[in-house]
Amino acid sequence: MSPHVKARRGLPYVDPAKHLPHFSWKKRGGAAREVYCEQVPLSQIARRYGTPAFVYSRQAIQDAYRGIERGLAKVPHQVCFAVKANGNLSILNFLASLGSGFDIVSGGELAHLGHLGISGRRIVFSGVGKSREEIREALRYRGNRRDARGILQFNVESPAELEMLIEEASRVSRAAERAPGVSVRVNPDVKAGGHPHIATGLEEHKFGIAWPEARRLYLAHRGAQAIRWQGISAHIGSQIVDLQPFRRALERLASYLLDLRRQGIALEYLDVGGGLGVRYTSEHPASRSDYGRMIAEIAGPLGVKVLLEPGRSIIAESCVLLSRVVYTKSNSRKSFVILDAAMNDLMRPVLYDAPHPITRVVQASSRNENSAERSDIVGPVCETGDTFLVDWPLGSVSQRDLVAIWLAGAYGFAQSSNYNARGRAAEILVYGRTAKLIRRRETYRDLLRTDVLG
Ligand SMILES: *Cc1c(COP(=O)(O)O)cnc(C)c1O
Repeated sequence: MSPHVKARRGLPYVDPAKHLPHFSWKKRGGAAREVYCEQVPLSQIARRYGTPAFVYSRQAIQDAYRGIERGLAKVPHQVCFAVKANGNLSILNFLASLGSGFDIVSGGELAHLGHLGISGRRIVFSGVGKSREEIREALRYRGNRRDARGILQFNVESPAELEMLIEEASRVSRAAERAPGVSVRVNPDVKAGGHPHIATGLEEHKFGIAWPEARRLYLAHRGAQAIRWQGISAHIGSQIVDLQPFRRALERLASYLLDLRRQGIALEYLDVGGGLGVRYTSEHPASRSDYGRMIAEIAGPLGVKVLLEPGRSIIAESCVLLSRVVYTKSNSRKSFVILDAAMNDLMRPVLYDAPHPITRVVQASSRNENSAERSDIVGPVCETGDTFLVDWPLGSVSQRDLVAIWLAGAYGFAQSSNYNARGRAAEILVYGRTAKLIRRRETYRDLLRTDVLG
């Protein structure tokens, strides 16, 4: 057995419809029970929009957002949703309507926000490799006519980046505008994160700057004209389920901030990054409001404004990847269920060995109901890695049966590709009894759009 499927092999059955509040099993008339997203049966969405499709509950997004806000109520704060977790325009627009700001990691993400007319005052730019062009774009950014130019904050991750930012900022004429606000992303050297690929807060990682070096930068540029020291930031990793590493990192960040204050550098913003985990199968993550309260408790006495960059904890649970069984087959050792969704739609299993529970969408006929038959749930892509779960007790399913691949909202569509010349899936937003297409499925024509016959 490949060592790469350790966390996805032989798991006990989990049915997220039983604990996620906006998905549920309901009976429609005299028919079999089936899974609903809010008030809409998933089977209806599959008939109308086809599969594979990402289906989001808008209420789930709102509740997650409000949960974090509730915890932070006692301190001035701005939640900045991490766009890389999910960049769908309708979802970003909905989050903006709730008051969310945005954390971006590329010029492309900034262009998305510009398309929506999001104010620069709500945008934080993170990332270890911002190009000169991207820095220029952010300095010139104007989300709408009333906006001053620029964004709320650049989180710089190296001395070289700071140099480039100062160079570019000095070129921009600033008749009426203030110098751009800058923070250093400090690497607090705290171990956290669900998987080696998503732990970012250790000295060995490429992210951030170790404190002694960061401190030197703050002091060396205290009198800078082209930029304005405004904050300090950290982001220690992703899918972190305990509050302890967050607390440790935050306490370090707070002590750095006080150190700078003693040196006469008064920062306005404390940016605590993102990283709160969710329950995929058996995890027990801290609640969003406890997480917010812990932050408020440490940040409150500092008298600063808190910036928070959650991605996964806002969007992961809101979504299922709806898929159909194409074939089933078995050999002397194993049963396989072959879906029409694949690793190009959802990379997380092969990339992080992430276990996404998979369930039926319509209850089985009584004959099969109690079957705990285990099978490998795979996609059609020509890679052994194209496996969602190994020895998963899905029970017996047949061709054309619908299944839900749960918790697909974060780093789901966002990481999807056209591998095997597969068009990317449709996305559907559900609110109450309404289901709305928010991204159409890609066609063969879309796939050919950028090819140039040379
Ligand atoms: C990815 C990222 C986030 C969001 O992380 P989640 O685990 O999705 O909450 C926040 N800040 C930065 C700098 C990131 O790179």
